[in-house]
Amino acid sequence: MTGTIEIDGSYGEGGGQILRTSLAMSLVTGKPFHIENIRLGRKKPGLLQQHLTAVNASARISQAEVEGNVLGSKKLYFAPKTVKPGRYHFSVKTAGSSTLVLQTVFPALLITHGKSELLLEGGTHNPYAPPFDFLARTYLPIISRMGVKISATLKRHGFYPVGGGRFNISIESTGKLSKINILKRGEIKRQIARAVVAKLPRSIGEREIKRIGDKLMWDRRCLHIEEVTNSAGPGNVLTVEIESEQITEVFTGFGERGVSAERVADKIVLEVKEYLSAGVPVGKYLADQLLIPMVLAGGGTFQTLPLTRHTRTNIEILKQFLNINITSSQLKNNVWQIEVRTK
Ligand code: ATP
Repeated sequence: MTGTIEIDGSYGEGGGQILRTSLAMSLVTGKPFHIENIRLGRKKPGLLQQHLTAVNASARISQAEVEGNVLGSKKLYFAPKTVKPGRYHFSVKTAGSSTLVLQTVFPALLITHGKSELLLEGGTHNPYAPPFDFLARTYLPIISRMGVKISATLKRHGFYPVGGGRFNISIESTGKLSKINILKRGEIKRQIARAVVAKLPRSIGEREIKRIGDKLMWDRRCLHIEEVTNSAGPGNVLTVEIESEQITEVFTGFGERGVSAERVADKIVLEVKEYLSAGVPVGKYLADQLLIPMVLAGGGTFQTLPLTRHTRTNIEILKQFLNINITSSQLKNNVWQIEVRTK
């Protein structure tokens, strides 16, 4: 079809993000796209429940014409009409990530004038996806600085494999995003480790935060345990939050059968140390997630850790939808700068 953008879902990282970025950019540009080889780089390729929910949510807010929106599909055609802010309820029927569903429809609602109230259900704390805490403490505060009124509330944790979590988010957009530059982290103002245990022994959380305290040499006042009783299933998530003057970063690990609480903590400690010693403001996950808002604002710059394959892949997909310049340069060992500019 003429004017349809052709996307290869197996490109680069070859995962679900190619689909989500394509949907998000199709919604904001109004350009239809056709994607083949969806998630060919993954063990179970094609649309899983989470991706299908994201496709259908995108279609709902834009009354899009869609073909191929069935479970397991490796192909999709998507042609949006007009994006309408409003009240929406999107539910991933499995433990699939509900924050990744938000990641898909969010950009369009950010730049469409009006108010939206969303209820999202599914996983809220999934490995390989932004946990709710990252959304609330890292990502959304940056978007607020770009001029959109946002609030998000976690109603219930949703963990793999049971899911059943839920959160609300309200978005009040003037239709425009302001440019921002995130070049410095500034002084550290607060640091917190929080172990959440749901329907599991409290001792797991105790061991996790003890290890964080020992390895990062943090005072007991920085270490917290939260026992959750209202989740549908059991789960354990450990987050470390570094609040600096310019940005808050959240590092996350998940308890798993066969992995000791200390190992869960040690993995996060490595990530935190890498982030702190590089001196950059933006961590590796935020880097791939900041690109779309910066593109929509018409520009922006940030400093981050060496670019992940997710970030590199995202840059290439964005360029297929818009004529923009995204450059990356290495400033030092472990310090990279990304600059987004409209041509
Ligand atoms: P699949 O590739 O199996 O389809 P997926 O749909 O879950 O997986 P990915 O392509 O792996 O998606 O993208 C995952 C997204 O989640 C990326 O935007 C990444 O930055 C984000 N992410 C992953 N882990 C974290 C984390 N710990 N904190 C914040 N964001 C995260």
